Amino acid sequence: MGAGEQKQEAGSRNQGGEEQGAGEQGRRGEMEDELAGVPTLEEIERHPMDHLLRTERLPHIWCPGCGLGTALSCFTSALMRSGLDLDKVAIVSGIGCTGRVAGYLRLDGFHTTHGRAIPFATGLKLANGDLKVVVFSGDGDLIAIGGNHFIHAARRNMDLTVICVNNFNYGMTGGQMGPTTPTGARTSTSPQGNLEHPFNVPNLAAAAGATYVARWTVLHARRLEKAMHKALLKPGFSVVEVISPCPTLYGRFNRRQYGSDMIEYYHQKAVIRRDAQPWEVDIDLGGEIICGEFVNIERPTFQDRMREKFGELHPSDELGLLHRPPVELESHGTGEGFRVQVPGLGLTRAAARPTAVGGQLRAPISHAKCLESAAGSLEVLLCGFGGQGIILSGKIAGAGAALYDEREVTLTQSYGPESRGGACSTALIISNDPILYPHVTRPCVMAAMSQESYTTYHGHLAEGGVLLIDSDLVEPDPAGSQQVIPIPATRIAEHELGRRIVANIVMLGALTALTEVVSEAGMRKAILERVPKGTEELNMKAFQMGFDYGRGLVGSGRDTDQED
Ligand code: SF4
Repeated sequence: MGAGEQKQEAGSRNQGGEEQGAGEQGRRGEMEDELAGVPTLEEIERHPMDHLLRTERLPHIWCPGCGLGTALSCFTSALMRSGLDLDKVAIVSGIGCTGRVAGYLRLDGFHTTHGRAIPFATGLKLANGDLKVVVFSGDGDLIAIGGNHFIHAARRNMDLTVICVNNFNYGMTGGQMGPTTPTGARTSTSPQGNLEHPFNVPNLAAAAGATYVARWTVLHARRLEKAMHKALLKPGFSVVEVISPCPTLYGRFNRRQYGSDMIEYYHQKAVIRRDAQPWEVDIDLGGEIICGEFVNIERPTFQDRMREKFGELHPSDELGLLHRPPVELESHGTGEGFRVQVPGLGLTRAAARPTAVGGQLRAPISHAKCLESAAGSLEVLLCGFGGQGIILSGKIAGAGAALYDEREVTLTQSYGPESRGGACSTALIISNDPILYPHVTRPCVMAAMSQESYTTYHGHLAEGGVLLIDSDLVEPDPAGSQQVIPIPATRIAEHELGRRIVANIVMLGALTALTEVVSEAGMRKAILERVPKGTEELNMKAFQMGFDYGRGLVGSGRDTDQED
């Protein structure tokens, strides 16, 4: 083909291309017409309730199979349908797994102290009568520790909506028996079966004066949502009891260890009885769960009576609480925060700016100074988040020191509201002499396995103390004066042993190698005694890996902030 022909050929192709382009454009236009109204991929990935959730706090901390996600989902749907002004809805939670709800909702939310959600909510409502105040909490929080507040708020007919998630035990703190545990049910504190008679929540609420009372299981999602919707719009003290699975604890103790087992149980045993009287709806172990709406009455609320007596009151306006200028946020000198990847989880966590930490280690860390300053006893604090085995680590270290090293030991632990997703700790005093005061005040040795626990506790470390951190989960404070030794405990557990769950034992291994707070032999015996049967080999491997890592730091004299 000659050059002229080639040019002509190219020209016709161009022309064809333009024609094709026009055709292409036309087809695209047609497709766009067809797709009008079809959600985009981004829109599909966005959950319709996303605007109601603090998605930056997700994934949530609840266990697989837990019913709390369904309860929350029903609530968000009910709230949307209610037409309430979301700027005037406040959500108050107490402590427990359910207590986390307040933190996940993009509403004005308050996560209060144990059992005190109702008095807190009462204060909110009295200060600002325009608010719709919802209490969303668990059976332990509302009916045991907060039981008194529950009945008195019902008696007063405070204008509050209470969503009480009943999973028959204290889930967050380890599955202890609660006020709603059915007679005969096993829990961690009633291994032979509960001897007590449980509260019947609808009956308690009705007898105390609630204006609306309903009960549904999470299996009845549509009915549950409707009940929540009604409760939200009902003046006075409205209560919805949500029967919800806790497969991890209550279910496991009672031979229903999967969420699906419990849902199956609800399927078989839940009975809808709209004519049932509240006193007829007790829940017996293995018996029927009567569901329905049991109370829907009118009576003056506490606010109605106040208005009648004193006219319209706006205490928050009078105190100038509602229109205060916004608080200026202060910078704390770390400059812009940054985010650190948490390997394996695909998560990022907010963290302080990193700094050079650590030093050359050439021998196991001496704690002689701490021993001197603490009158012959050594204080140790292990911390992390719930589920990392922090409490077990403390028990192992304590047993190693007390039973095998023959030292005096005390052990205290903090595994409270903060434990799931927050900071929990176990603290030991190890001494050659009798210990007169059991509480740890200035630990010389600390191991922190989560950022939040580090933030909570590192300020307690004695000057010159030694701080081991899980290097993938904790970024130390650049201004901290402590010697910080990063240990990739979670990474070792996950990558070398395939089980993240033994990261605590890896950390114990490193702690033993580096600090010798407990002898190696003592720690090994204690681990074998205390880890669940069948996991001894895995745990001993984890200990060995942590120990070798610690000894490697000692032997090599590596700069400990360059661990990887
Ligand atoms: Fe749910 Fe029980 Fe797990 Fe708590 S412990 S998140 S109630 S399954």
